[in-house]
Amino acid sequence: MARMDPADIQQAFLDAGALLTGHFALSSGLHSDRYLEKFRLIERPAALEPMCADIADRFADSGVEYVLGPTTAGIILAYNVARYLGVVARFAEPAANGRTLRRGQTMPAGARVLIVDDILTTGLSVRECMDIVARGGGDLVGVAILGDRSGGKALPGVRLESLLTVEFATYAPEACPLCIAGVPLTKPGTRSAS
Ligand SMILES: [Zn+2]
Repeated sequence: MARMDPADIQQAFLDAGALLTGHFALSSGLHSDRYLEKFRLIERPAALEPMCADIADRFADSGVEYVLGPTTAGIILAYNVARYLGVVARFAEPAANGRTLRRGQTMPAGARVLIVDDILTTGLSVRECMDIVARGGGDLVGVAILGDRSGGKALPGVRLESLLTVEFATYAPEACPLCIAGVPLTKPGTRSAS
């Protein structure tokens, strides 16, 4: 386990193609000049594993017993961070209301839990994981994120460790300077097949 230099973290995002600059239509309907494509990192062990080791190092003295991550990318993150910490992973899967543990996974009351996720925007999936911890009487140690788009504001009152914090300029389409300048618009992550 070792901390990464912040400049190396940003360079790893760029090298993987996970941090893009251009003109993007976000799922919120807003336009932005930057975009985080998390799966460019999740699919690259050589880029992702040092980041998981960094997260593990930040929580090495926190008595973590379980690393909990939401599907899909959170499974990979939880597994790898748990591997570095020498503990076990738990997977938060979609349920009728929020998320739940399935496949015989449990966490006892009092369990010390670290939540990991890829990108923090609204914090919804992390809060759904926090609900699992709270329902089970667990003890939330903190939350670790690869890329924080929320400016650290999505999860007040929680120990939040983000490897990369990205400030996104976002615009309503009718007031977007990139549209006005005629820059071609990209719609990343279009759900064409799922
Ligand atoms: Zn635009």
